[in-house]
Amino acid sequence: APMLGPDKESIGHLAVLWNQPTDSPGLARELVRIASAQAGTELGRRRAAGEVNESERRLHTLMNHLPGMAYQCRDDDVWTPEFVSGGTQALTGYPVSDFTERRRINLADLYHPDDFPWVADEVARCVTAREPFALIYRMVRADGEIRWVWERGQAVEDDQGNVLRLEGFITDVTEQQQSERVQKAVLQIAKAVTARSGRDFFTQLVNHLTLALEADAGFIATCPGPGKCDWLEMKAVITDGRNRENYGFAVSGLPVEQVLQEGVYIVNEGANALFPCHEQSRETDRAQGYVGWRLDDSNGKPIGVVVIMSRQPLLDTQLALSVLQIFGAGAAGEMERQATEARIRRLAFEDTVTGIPNRVSFMQELEDWAAPGANLGNGLLCILLDLRRFMEINDTRGFNFGDEVLQAVASRCQQQLTGNDFVARLGADEFVLLLSHVAPDAVRQVVGRLFRVMSDPLAIGEDSVSIETSMGASHFPGDASTTQDLFRHASIALHHAKRGQTGFSVFDRNMADDMFRRQAMHARFCQALENDELQLHYQPQFDLASGKLTGAEALCRWHDAEWGWVSPGEFIPLAEERGTIVELGEWVLRTASLQLRQWQDRGIHFPGRLSINVSARQLDDPNLVTRIVEKSSAVAPEKLGLELTESGFMHDPDQAVRITHALTDAGFELSIDDFGTGYSSLSYLRRFAADTLKIDMSFVRDMLNNNHDRAIVDTIIAMARTLGMQTIAEGVETLDHANALLALGCDQAQGYYYGRPVSPDEFASAWLEPRQKSANE
Ligand code: C2E
Ligand code: MG
Ligand code: MG
Repeated sequence: APMLGPDKESIGHLAVLWNQPTDSPGLARELVRIASAQAGTELGRRRAAGEVNESERRLHTLMNHLPGMAYQCRDDDVWTPEFVSGGTQALTGYPVSDFTERRRINLADLYHPDDFPWVADEVARCVTAREPFALIYRMVRADGEIRWVWERGQAVEDDQGNVLRLEGFITDVTEQQQSERVQKAVLQIAKAVTARSGRDFFTQLVNHLTLALEADAGFIATCPGPGKCDWLEMKAVITDGRNRENYGFAVSGLPVEQVLQEGVYIVNEGANALFPCHEQSRETDRAQGYVGWRLDDSNGKPIGVVVIMSRQPLLDTQLALSVLQIFGAGAAGEMERQATEARIRRLAFEDTVTGIPNRVSFMQELEDWAAPGANLGNGLLCILLDLRRFMEINDTRGFNFGDEVLQAVASRCQQQLTGNDFVARLGADEFVLLLSHVAPDAVRQVVGRLFRVMSDPLAIGEDSVSIETSMGASHFPGDASTTQDLFRHASIALHHAKRGQTGFSVFDRNMADDMFRRQAMHARFCQALENDELQLHYQPQFDLASGKLTGAEALCRWHDAEWGWVSPGEFIPLAEERGTIVELGEWVLRTASLQLRQWQDRGIHFPGRLSINVSARQLDDPNLVTRIVEKSSAVAPEKLGLELTESGFMHDPDQAVRITHALTDAGFELSIDDFGTGYSSLSYLRRFAADTLKIDMSFVRDMLNNNHDRAIVDTIIAMARTLGMQTIAEGVETLDHANALLALGCDQAQGYYYGRPVSPDEFASAWLEPRQKSANE
């Protein structure tokens, strides 16, 4: 017969076998059926019992090895425990027996006092609603440590719907919770801090750090230099949500000292630290909680600190620390970047010699002043200051001394500043001052005073030097409607002062008119140059002793249809100022060479050399030599002389030395024009490959009745002789001059006494045709 289990499923068969025929098969069948039914029931029962045991065993193992706490408790006010699993001790720090046998702890005791009320409410609500509950709250462990836990549970009811008990499971989620809270705080702060750099960055950062961490104060402070942290400068201070003024303080004895030494300093409670900006806070108002994190640069050197403080003990210092660490890295990066930027700014915006702002900085300052709302008072005065003959100081006393003079000038200028006034060094020996709150009628007085102040001798070490300055000034809005014009007009005034040797001048409209006239003249001159309307005139030069023609000087002439003859004294400086002189120089060289060539081709002999003036500006061209060779290719270099002025050499003496050698090597003769008017550096004079000194006409003119000038001429001639050079005197207007020069040993002469500069044809017919003439005739 089949054996059937409690659910009528087949669990086997029962068979009875006889070794002889049965007498009553009906009874036997009945007996087997009953027996199989009983056996089936018994077997089914046993199997079920075995299964229950197994599942109980499994459950038990599971319960006691779960990381966390399974519980059953009464649904009373304190949640009296009935059962807790083996993981309870690890989670709570209390042994299991404290919950069960000894009944020392109720589940309600585990909750953080701040969290218990709302947890109790939520559980009650879910029980009533017959829903499971899931909560995250803080648990206080046996040792007082606060952990974040996650609990899931539900009520168990009987058939009538009465709540028998609560059961559930609690597990520690502090780590996840911590990182989530950190994440949330980080996100919140990161979103709120909109400034990526600069001062705002620090202020916003401290502000949002204190907000997110529920602190009452916070600050970021920086060390004066990496690793030099006896003193800190506040970068941003927030107390009670308000941005306080930054200040510096010595760290000794303060909690920050710990931060700097240990890298981190955490006090949950009892820090007893003064709030930043303590002079305003009451002595009794001290911080209980304190978390400080040291900021290190990329080399690991301390460069500052970030700190938060709270009046109440800090609950979650771990969170605070994590957040400070994260933003500390950003703050340290920004501090380092700022330090680098400051260094770069110093390089870019500061004059390295004097430490005052440079030209770039000045231009920016000017723009700032131009901004609407700039407080200029009753006007802004721009004074340009130029040191006269500064090169002389440099060259005679050395560059170090020159630098010290510049520094002394800079600091003297600085002493004249008040308020927002500004001084910068614009170039080699040029300074600029911007003085606000200067009324138009006070301008002369202010500039005059500065001029006198600057003429007092400067103390340089043991020495004292007097420097001469030229100053040009302009007033905004008196003389200029924009600050750009202000600078331009001050430059015009300076130009005027330099040209007029007046010391200082204040801009007026006439200067601007003069400027416009010069501009117009330059435009016309460029046209004349382009249209080949310029001419060269030739002035003869003679050997003083024999009276023989030794050559001529080519001098440029410009006849304008409207203005008539324009003096080279006017257009040459203009062309020099604006750079056209380079083009003009090439034109002169080509024209003069072609002229010589033409005479040569016509069989007219030109003795000696034709001298050509080379401007200082042309010496700036490193390819000058090639250019000269190229432009003069119509004649041999031996037919040409080049006149350079001293000032041209001194611009870049070393390059000048190279150029002069290259030119003489190429076969040109070199003379130094207007000798004696510039300042002469004997050491360089020796190094220049010049053949001739051309004595300036100012000395020649007065040499007959001025002993001083005569002595100068005498000295120049003697000096030239020592250096193995020739001399030529210019501006020789009388026979007496010629005789005096001859007596002093001068070699050659040029001047009206012999002949004025004349056109090529006149020159040829006067001096070259039909035969060569002598000055003695
Ligand atoms: P510089 O090279 O010293 O030329 C001599 C100047 O003195 C010339 O003036 C000449 O006309 C003038 N002069 C000659 N003899 C006498 C005299 O006995 N008495 C007086 N009072 N003056 C005399 P200029 O032609 O007016 O030229 C003036 C300056 O312009 C020149 O001085 C030179 O520096 C420059 N210059 C002229 N032509 C050129 C040129 O083609 N290229 C360059 N770069 N500069 C030139
Ligand atoms: Mg000359
Ligand atoms: Mg001259």
